[in-house]
Amino acid sequence: ANFSIASLLMACVLVIYRNDMNARISLARELVHAITDRQLLVLYQPQVGMDGKPTGAEALVRWQHPSRGLLSPDQFIPLAEESFLIRELGLEVLRQACELLSKWAEDPVLATKIVAVNVSPVQLQDAGFVSSVRQVLAATGANPARLELELTESALCMDVDQVREKMQALQANGVRWALDDFGTGFSSLAVLQSLPVQKLKIDRQFVESAAESESAKLLLAKIIEIADVMGMTAIAEGIETRQQRDMLAQFGCREFQGFLYGRPQPVAALESMMRVAVS
Ligand code: C2E
Ligand code: MG
Ligand code: MG
Ligand code: MG
Repeated sequence: ANFSIASLLMACVLVIYRNDMNARISLARELVHAITDRQLLVLYQPQVGMDGKPTGAEALVRWQHPSRGLLSPDQFIPLAEESFLIRELGLEVLRQACELLSKWAEDPVLATKIVAVNVSPVQLQDAGFVSSVRQVLAATGANPARLELELTESALCMDVDQVREKMQALQANGVRWALDDFGTGFSSLAVLQSLPVQKLKIDRQFVESAAESESAKLLLAKIIEIADVMGMTAIAEGIETRQQRDMLAQFGCREFQGFLYGRPQPVAALESMMRVAVS
């Protein structure tokens, strides 16, 4: 009896696995169309300085799926990375962000704002990465100095020399680099120091846990000190309350991003927020 229950369970697991595989394969197939049929929607989350005024925004992709509704990046970015569709997807997000920057260049208020775009480690591995970014910059006429590229620590597990070369090549064009989700990966501080990174994005998880214990709070303060010592700007992610913001500011953090200031939102909403903050 034990044996038959075990094999029944095994069969169930296999069926579930196969269904999951099929669902993933069909989603991957649909993703090809998403990129060409303009189903990718880019939302922008404001980043603010000490005065609460936006200094820029992070581009965050959504998939407006024809039948499944609005999908969040967690639901399709890993799939895009496995199927290498991330290269096209990432370029499409970059294209939209650079078109926005180019439009903003005409506007006295918006011309100074930064747009940050996430770059997947898979994209960075691509030999054509640097030239494709340059091509998008040239085609859109965006000012490279207003573009910030966000890299996660997992990108640093790859050939660091190659990663550094690509980062330096784009930095030479004026592009800035930020390290995303800092503290959650395994990159060494020595490696980090050797890269042209201007900004450390402190992961939301550190901000969250600082409320729970004194040691977590101390850790957060030290992370900001590390950024400072390395000559990098720290920006705290996942700021949801005024208390969190004040604690971070007390530790020396000067830039903030989180629901307290705004959710990822359509361009028009972001622009009016940027304009209101001026007057
Ligand atoms: P991320 O780059 O670390 O982006 C921050 C994520 O935290 C966003 O989730 C944002 O909506 C969320 N967030 C911001 N403030 C708060 C807050 O106050 N509280 C809470 N609970 N969450 C907050 P989202 O938009 O779902 O994106 C998730 C991840 O997907 C991103 O993490 C990024 O790694 C990836 N992603 C998004 N767009 C792209 C893209 O165009 N390309 C690539 N390669 N990855 C992307
Ligand atoms: Mg990011
Ligand atoms: Mg992050
Ligand atoms: Mg993240």
